[in-house]
Amino acid sequence: MTSQPAEPSERYQHGDGHTLTADCPLQCLATAQLSAKSFNPLNHELPWLLGRPATVGDVTRLYLYGYLRYVRHLGPRRLGEIGLVLTLADLLSAPPRDPRTTTHAPTPRS
Ligand SMILES: [Zn+2]
Repeated sequence: MTSQPAEPSERYQHGDGHTLTADCPLQCLATAQLSAKSFNPLNHELPWLLGRPATVGDVTRLYLYGYLRYVRHLGPRRLGEIGLVLTLADLLSAPPRDPRTTTHAPTPRS
């Protein structure tokens, strides 16, 4: 009989209680849900690739563009895990590059 208000657009909250955003430093992924085996390669390679400390937004961008697979020690399973965490944080809902991938509600038929 308890009605729990479902919040579909609720963003993923990580360890210290704040919401995972693109502006978060990379370390926030470790306190989110990412395993060390996925986080450590990012933590080692991205600052070197970018020439500066990486953010969650960098990971999102590189993931969307398919560059993360070039990061050493990141296989398909790790990439899937990273994608899941980013999805839970609602970070992958950026505007798609290909307009055909835009998802609209199906037009109602009568
Ligand atoms: Zn954070």
